[in-house]
Amino acid sequence: MEILEGLHAVRIADADGLDTEVYLLDCEEGVILVDVGFTPQCLENISLELKNMGREWGDVKMVIITHAHGDHILNLPQVKELTDAEVVVGLGDEERLLERTGVKADVALDTGDIIGAFGNIEVIRVPGHSRGNLSLLLHKHRALIAGDTIFGDQEGNLEAPPEKYCEDVGEAARNLSTLLNYDFDALLLSHGANILSGAKERVRALVDNCV
Ligand SMILES: [Zn+2]
Repeated sequence: MEILEGLHAVRIADADGLDTEVYLLDCEEGVILVDVGFTPQCLENISLELKNMGREWGDVKMVIITHAHGDHILNLPQVKELTDAEVVVGLGDEERLLERTGVKADVALDTGDIIGAFGNIEVIRVPGHSRGNLSLLLHKHRALIAGDTIFGDQEGNLEAPPEKYCEDVGEAARNLSTLLNYDFDALLLSHGANILSGAKERVRALVDNCV
């Protein structure tokens, strides 16, 4: 489903009872896929959305992994084979990505790095959920793809990443305030309902609650 111009959300599956989404960014040069899911059904759903966009797997030029946890990465070997896309991961998650998928990232990015596509994608590394955990700021939409930096439910309530999913739950909660340094209006989650406007105030309220 296209939720902002050129930005498609694909609901891929329920992971451990959580609904899960990946994102496709339609760029002039090709398509960027953010996370790849973990089951054949996930790949099927991504295929269908590519088709709706008038695209195919061969158009996917870059895969950005928000973090190297199973529900976000396990399809990477198949995606690599279908696309030969460049693989981008957050600094600190390269080894785990290689261990769990056999795919070596082409580049590991850190806070402040900019991917010069889709009107610039600014990388924000928020360690805690994993060491290399990333959020991605899409400048042209003032939209933040949070990845698992923030979790949500279907009613739009936000929470810090739950302990059972985190490598360091305290660090994950403390680092949430990093997001307030950025200008965004929309918040796109891997797990939970997206918020398409007024999201920064909601994140501020979450941060206040976590202190
Ligand atoms: Zn996840």
